Amino acid sequence: MTFWKTIPADKYEVAVVGGGAAGMTAAITAARAGARTVLLERNDRLGRKLLMTGNGKCNLGNRDLKRSDYYSDDMAMAVSVLERFGTEETIAFFASLGLLLKEKRGYLYPVSEQAAVVLDVLRHGLERDKTEVLTGALVREIRQKGENAGKDSPADYVLQLQDGRQLWTERVILACGGQAAPGTGSDGSGYALARALGHTVIAPVPSLVQLHCSEKYCRALAGVRAEGAVRIYPSDSG
Ligand SMILES: Cc1cc2nc3c(=O)[nH]c(=O)nc-3n(C[C@H](O)[C@H](O)[C@H](O)COP(=O)(O)OP(=O)(O)OC[C@H]3O[C@@H](n4cnc5c(N)ncnc54)[C@H](O)[C@@H]3O)c2cc1C
Repeated sequence: MTFWKTIPADKYEVAVVGGGAAGMTAAITAARAGARTVLLERNDRLGRKLLMTGNGKCNLGNRDLKRSDYYSDDMAMAVSVLERFGTEETIAFFASLGLLLKEKRGYLYPVSEQAAVVLDVLRHGLERDKTEVLTGALVREIRQKGENAGKDSPADYVLQLQDGRQLWTERVILACGGQAAPGTGSDGSGYALARALGHTVIAPVPSLVQLHCSEKYCRALAGVRAEGAVRIYPSDSG
């Protein structure tokens, strides 16, 4: 028989799985609404991918958000999300954390142009709003308590961690990221968690990718931004 170590004995109202930009924002928002919140991150630190965004400068928003920028079978949902939390709300959220933003050709950056500063204010926000943060906490399985929820158990979901620990919570927010840059922690394992809970996952496809080519001189161009036109010709060799 296996004895699971439970963390802590009490239950949470909200458990957020994934300590990236989305998870930290969700956890701060839940905690500010008064929920006892825990944030679980598999890496030993939060926000690894966030540090890479915008070449380390963190382009965290866009002044000109339009419906036509998004592609979805369910545009009503996309629009409803943007209407509830658009550019102004993003600016206000970061201002509430003490972060001022600046705009360059419609792109929003922290005034310092440092992604590390964005991560710092999010981490301070978690601390200030008393969110519990567990790092090194890889969530392997999420079980719903089903018919017995709220009766013989203190909560509706049991989160099973890779190291054997278990955690009880009333609500779960999955913020495990996609599959891009798996070295940062978001390796697509969140899709399996979502599927196991009955969600439908549309097959993910890469949308913004590197171009690889054999010419060595291109390496010097890595990271250089310029406006221009590119033509791609398929090679004969296939
Ligand atoms: C090189 C690069 C440059 C980019 N530049 C920009 C940019 O300039 N502007 C922009 O808007 N976006 C940019 N992006 C995209 C942006 O970084 C992502 O959209 C954003 O970080 C996604 O945040 P997220 O919180 O959804 O996911 P992530 O940041 O991927 O966070 C998910 C977290 O969940 C954790 N996790 C996953 N599974 C589990 C599990 N089972 N248990 C526990 N934890 C788990 C992961 O370790 C990870 O920390 C860039 C991305 C890359 C790779």
